[in-house]
Amino acid sequence: MHTSGCTGAWPVGKPVQPMLRQTPGPPVRWLAGRLAVVTGASRGIGAATAAAVAAAGAHVLLAARDRQALDGVAGQIKDAGGQATPVPTDVSDEAAVERLFAEVAGIGQLSALVCAAGVLTNALFAETTSKMWHETLGVNLTGTFLCCRAAFTAMVPAGEGRIVNIASLSGVYATEKFPGLAAYNVSKYGVVGLTEAVAVEGKKHGISAICLSPGAVDTEMLRRANPALRPGLTPDDVGELIAALLDSPLAPVSGANIPLFSNA
Ligand code: NAP
Repeated sequence: MHTSGCTGAWPVGKPVQPMLRQTPGPPVRWLAGRLAVVTGASRGIGAATAAAVAAAGAHVLLAARDRQALDGVAGQIKDAGGQATPVPTDVSDEAAVERLFAEVAGIGQLSALVCAAGVLTNALFAETTSKMWHETLGVNLTGTFLCCRAAFTAMVPAGEGRIVNIASLSGVYATEKFPGLAAYNVSKYGVVGLTEAVAVEGKKHGISAICLSPGAVDTEMLRRANPALRPGLTPDDVGELIAALLDSPLAPVSGANIPLFSNA
């Protein structure tokens, strides 16, 4: 008797395709497993950036002068499951920067650099001493130059690298300035120009560099320099942004200076 034809066996001929369920996992981030240096990492924007870059999976070398504060930031990153190595460094001191990048080379291939170290001394223009001028330019501009140059040299053999420098709205043309910031403003204009130079020469080596120019961000520097200015961003906001930028293909925008209108 003809029944339904069902033999109880699997039909032969056409292979049965297993049902594959695509479970979307978190995307693999460019920073994952890479080595990064963050300067100014003992507090403020640098510390928050170091935490965000480490959370993206990078091993971060933390550079600033205050060893105890660096140890604290490294401890927090490690408690959160990240990798961090504090390297006390004065970025305005060429020999100290050389020691920092020698330590990097001893760990592995450098992929990313964030220059967040900075100082601000408020002084009206006519009262700006040569000492103030040289200290400000020494940390903000020469320090960024020394770190970018060392990072650039380390990145060339790998044929890739990503750099984010922090300038300021104070260094953005045609943004109205505050009094008392001549040396600071000039140093930040310099950082914008330096970043363009790194981007131009980095192109053929796969090295990208961009500048971020925040307005007010809620940090010790802002509270000391201009307590009346209301910050529209936290250090964490800026740190997350920098980590996201490093994770993006930066090459098409290399050389750009991105203003953050964060004066609330
Ligand atoms: P912050 O809280 O005062 O932090 C400044 C950082 O720079 C500290 O980690 C400090 O560490 C480090 N630093 C200073 N001199 C150094 C040196 N010679 N060598 C190495 N590290 C040094 O200031 P922030 O607001 O986070 O500033 C971070 C960057 O953002 C700066 O470049 C600043 O100009 C820029 N920025 C800030 C704002 C704002 O509203 N906060 C706006 C625009 C741009 P040590 O003292 O331990 O060395």
